[in-house]
Amino acid sequence: MDLLELTRAALDTGPLCDPCLGRLVADRGFGLTNAQRGRSLRITVSLADDHPYEPHADSEQCWVCEGESARVDSFAERAITALDGWEIATYQVGTRVPPLLEENDRLLRDDTGLGEDAGEPLQRELNREVGKRIGAAIGADVDLDRPDALVLIDLATDEIELQVNSAFVYGRYRKLARDVPQTKWPCSDCGQTGMRRGAPCEACEGTGYRYGTSVEQQTAPVVREAMGGSEATFHGAGREDVDARMLGEGRPFVVEVDEPRQRSVDLDRIERAINEQADAAEVSGLQDATRDAASSA
Ligand SMILES: [Zn+2]
Ligand SMILES: [Zn+2]
Repeated sequence: MDLLELTRAALDTGPLCDPCLGRLVADRGFGLTNAQRGRSLRITVSLADDHPYEPHADSEQCWVCEGESARVDSFAERAITALDGWEIATYQVGTRVPPLLEENDRLLRDDTGLGEDAGEPLQRELNREVGKRIGAAIGADVDLDRPDALVLIDLATDEIELQVNSAFVYGRYRKLARDVPQTKWPCSDCGQTGMRRGAPCEACEGTGYRYGTSVEQQTAPVVREAMGGSEATFHGAGREDVDARMLGEGRPFVVEVDEPRQRSVDLDRIERAINEQADAAEVSGLQDATRDAASSA
């Protein structure tokens, strides 16, 4: 591929912003931004052809991205505002690109004789450029696998969506009393409503639950509160064993906290708080866990 010919062909297609021009050769010149690549190509052609240098079009005029490349600062600012108040160590940025803009990317490659997936698509450019700015501002790292938070940019609606992923705490529990289930046990007589035929349900004494408490009720709310989460779910190992106590070294469990404001919490303090208030259960060895631990607990 001759870079000069490619650039001339690209500029002939209509007004292009520097990032969209540079994205065509994103696999070259490691360390450059696509905007720098695009600008350099434009300058090179101006020198080679001895034509007056024409800076890139007003970004809004770019027929490929329709100005989205120029909005990375604004997307990043809004994402950083949305992340305020959340303790986030790792994050990932995703962009929903409307089909029409994806098609423009394909057309530009077609018109310039490049392969359909040459260079870098608009989506990756936006993810990376917005991500760089977020990372620098909040001091967090990109994690494509299991980020604490996912920032979603929707170009069609111009909305920034923040998805905060759950935190997981692993530990072991011992059940000190009989007639205590692992998790909340809804009453089947009244369908958890506590009422039956207009009167309090006799089977559960109007509580909606078959048993007065559970290991879940004695543990999960303490973890949820410490992390400032919206919900907490208890995942226990092994089969339900209501009648028997569970002593010895106990059974493993994981508490999953949805939308935690705080992730680095004092687990020793949480352990003590649970054990001070729980009369039917006792926990030990609390530690940070991952989603894997929840599915295998
Ligand atoms: Zn553009
Ligand atoms: Zn009932």
